[in-house]
Amino acid sequence: MEKRIYEAWKGRNKFLLGGRLIFGPDAGSILVSASMIIVPVIIFCNFIGRHLVHEFPSYNAGYMIVVAPFLFTIYVLILLLLTSSRDPGIVPRNTHPPEEEFRYENSVSNEGGGNKTPSLQFPRTKEVIVNGVSVRVKYCDTCMLYRPPRCSHCSVCNNCVERFDHHCPWVGQCIGLRNYRFFFLFVSSSTLLCIYVFCMSALYIKILMRNYDGTVWTGIRESPLAVVLMAYCFIALWFVGGLTGFHLYLISSNQTTYENFRYRADNRINVYDQGCAGNFKEIFCTKIKPSRNKFRAFMQEVHRPPPPATSRESGAEDSGPEDRRIKVEDDMDFGGDLLKISQRHDVKDIINSRHHNPSEFDSVLGSDRHAMNSNLHESRNYVAQRQGYR
Ligand SMILES: [Zn+2]
Ligand SMILES: [Zn+2]
Repeated sequence: MEKRIYEAWKGRNKFLLGGRLIFGPDAGSILVSASMIIVPVIIFCNFIGRHLVHEFPSYNAGYMIVVAPFLFTIYVLILLLLTSSRDPGIVPRNTHPPEEEFRYENSVSNEGGGNKTPSLQFPRTKEVIVNGVSVRVKYCDTCMLYRPPRCSHCSVCNNCVERFDHHCPWVGQCIGLRNYRFFFLFVSSSTLLCIYVFCMSALYIKILMRNYDGTVWTGIRESPLAVVLMAYCFIALWFVGGLTGFHLYLISSNQTTYENFRYRADNRINVYDQGCAGNFKEIFCTKIKPSRNKFRAFMQEVHRPPPPATSRESGAEDSGPEDRRIKVEDDMDFGGDLLKISQRHDVKDIINSRHHNPSEFDSVLGSDRHAMNSNLHESRNYVAQRQGYR
């Protein structure tokens, strides 16, 4: 029985529906977060909204007081699911370290005399050019790749995630390139829901005061639940409201939470800032990049060489075509390798050295040309810079 990619996944993610949904390892917290939204809304609709309905009798407008938060809660829960159940922007792992780096680059400089024996001391960081400014990217030992700019390794999920913001324990998922928009909408919508329930509960107390012709205490005595809801929403507002404000600031200046903490410490300039409007446009109006992981694809074990008589782990490490595809994509992303390949005009050599099938390599090149192009600029700059150093 062929295994699918998600069944041999090395990160700590949990999968549902046969790999269609991907969660973080702490996905159980979604149920807690969801109930923290659902329970207060049910209490509100059942004990407060129900009475408020009759306060606005014309055209049955009062029913909107209950229907609106009900529909809005469904919207918030969908946003929660969109945030936590999709690939946040995981960079597929390499199955081998980037051989090109240390075989032909470093061994020359480290050991001298053009000795081309492999050396494991390949550079731990690379310089890439982003918007004309040199940015240092680090090598990830776990994923065996040079992280793209803004990418970071999540220690909870054990994956490298593009445009890594943070790992959110409330949604049980990394917040990154592919789910940041939904995360922000989730947090800001929760804030609006909080404000709504708070204001409507306050209105109910005011109506009770009028009806009983009493003070605030009369209202509180008549509906203690309204006070409990107001207190709950008040506390929640500090959290979700504060988070909304913080992320509005981050979006306006095109920073991630991770960068915000780092930049402050390093006093570095932000090379991604395109002006407030441009930054908002980037987050909310650009097409979300497709996932780079095909979780449901088969590992295609049939095309593999016979597995060595070692552990199952090493078998999983072996390159099936799917793995190769992922690896090639990675190589493109950290473009130095690929450009070196094209510059040296001995593609077949490299392919053979990496056990690649040339035709498959070509097809991969063709189908992923778009992904390559988007990274080529950086790669070119990188190579140009490396050459400049010599
Ligand atoms: Zn990593
Ligand atoms: Zn994570």
